[in-house]
Amino acid sequence: MLSKAKTIEAVERMEKLFPNAHCELNHETPFQLLIATILSAQATDKGVNKVTPKLFAIYPNAHALANSEEEVVIECIQSLGLYRNKAKNIRLCAQQLVEKYNGEVPRTREELVSLAGVGRKTANVVLSVAFGLPAFAVDTHVERVSKRLQICKQSASVLEVEETLCKKLPKNKWGKAHHWMIFFGRYHCTARSPKCQGCPLLDLCAYGQKEV
Ligand code: SF4
Repeated sequence: MLSKAKTIEAVERMEKLFPNAHCELNHETPFQLLIATILSAQATDKGVNKVTPKLFAIYPNAHALANSEEEVVIECIQSLGLYRNKAKNIRLCAQQLVEKYNGEVPRTREELVSLAGVGRKTANVVLSVAFGLPAFAVDTHVERVSKRLQICKQSASVLEVEETLCKKLPKNKWGKAHHWMIFFGRYHCTARSPKCQGCPLLDLCAYGQKEV
């Protein structure tokens, strides 16, 4: 297992490779980030960014989406997988925001995960990206990179990956490290063909050393 010091070293090297890593879901408000993140389940950020301009032009806030017609929402997002389910969830989520939170996005994980379509990862993205609060969202890239580098156990659940990262990385790095790891996983340590040859993390990575 990679030690705490080496884990910090690893993410710092990812930062050097991707210093401008950021949230790639286009949004202007916490509400729009919340909806875009719900829509991103089993879809690419690019795919979500194709549908949200039209969706947010018609429904820019929770009040508008709460009063939407399902068929119009479906029409906006039907290029995404699971679009019927997602249409139901984002409308219900908007209605819950209006009923319980006056149309504002709440700032605690407990409140966020009580909303339709919102799981722990989505809640963590909103806390971290929209509100700058300490939270570590673990997506498929973060999980794969953490396991290849043996930051966590191969058998770790998503929650265990999150807990391990939170233990090994200082709190003030969580928000940024999430983006560095996602960019690193999306563009360098990819699922099918990781660029192990010449990888700046090779000396830290048992998986990569076996590959080259
Ligand atoms: Fe990923 Fe390969 Fe680099 Fe290891 S050496 S971090 S597997 S790209």
